[in-house]
Amino acid sequence: MDEDFIHSSLKKEDKSFELPLRPISLEEFVGQENIKERLHIFIGAAKKREDSLGHMLFSGPPGLGKTTIANIIAKTMNTNIVVTSGPIVEKPGDLAGVLTSLKDGDILFIDEIHRLNKAIEEYLYPAMEDFTLDLLIDSGPNARSVSVKLNKFTLIGATTRSGLLSSPLRSRFSFNARLDFYTTKDLEQIIIRSAKILNVEIDKAGANTIAKRSRGTPRIVNNLLKWVRDYSQMNHKKIIDKDVANLALKMLSIDEIGLDEMDKKILSLIIDNFAGGPVGIKTIGVALGEEQTTLEEVYEPYLIMLGFLKRTPRGREVTKIAYEHMGKKIPK
Ligand code: ADP
Repeated sequence: MDEDFIHSSLKKEDKSFELPLRPISLEEFVGQENIKERLHIFIGAAKKREDSLGHMLFSGPPGLGKTTIANIIAKTMNTNIVVTSGPIVEKPGDLAGVLTSLKDGDILFIDEIHRLNKAIEEYLYPAMEDFTLDLLIDSGPNARSVSVKLNKFTLIGATTRSGLLSSPLRSRFSFNARLDFYTTKDLEQIIIRSAKILNVEIDKAGANTIAKRSRGTPRIVNNLLKWVRDYSQMNHKKIIDKDVANLALKMLSIDEIGLDEMDKKILSLIIDNFAGGPVGIKTIGVALGEEQTTLEEVYEPYLIMLGFLKRTPRGREVTKIAYEHMGKKIPK
């Protein structure tokens, strides 16, 4: 049925819909213990000094909680958060507009910061370091540079591709954290919390069934839970147990470890057409009619985490366990 469920689940458009499920404090934020501990110290120390926070960078695949953390930080610091995203900031003037509107202590959240245009990135350096903005006004012989003093703000960047950030930008963040995929146990806890908010009944085995198919991702867990809730309502089930969850998830063509049709197409393509690889990502994209960035940011991280796929300098390679999972014969 819904072949693109995972991909569409990871798109950001349905964010307002997710809002009630979004944790609003670090205590409610499940998992990522190491990051939470570091945040307690980083935020606690800034509060003690009555200082604003240093700039922070969060990286990791979509749907793992980067935006959620940024909002929690703003709430904990009791400050305003201004949200923008790399591709939206097209001209230096756009950035200047946002930066000059920030008040002391405000947070500027830039999602997909790796997609900021390089020319704009250069304006960010002095803004992050000295809270000044050097603007070039007029052109030709009248061109001159004016330096505008900014309020002391905190930049929080989020990226699915930290490797694409230039090193001068990366080095200007004083807090740098990479979010990992969540464990099944963490995801079960998120499901139980979300089920309470959505007012649906679910038992432990039902939560486990959904958690195992959510590719380590809270956004997917919540979307699958909503789907299973709809399914159980339409089938007059009072409680979501293992059977109901299995029947509902079967309709989405997601297998028992969370792979969807596209994941399987990627693996089959490499196995059947390229003898297991290596094969270039461009070739895979063309063959499957999928954007290279979507393959790299949405599908590959989970396949790599499972140990099904390897990125090598010569291209992508499928591993032995992927052959086994796909029921294919391993070549000699
Ligand atoms: P990202 O910015 O990394 O793409 P989001 O912060 O938008 O991800 O998270 C997606 C959704 O997943 C949130 O709306 C929230 O409901 C849920 N979520 C993310 N992280 C957690 C968590 N640690 N605990 C509970 N729910 C979470």
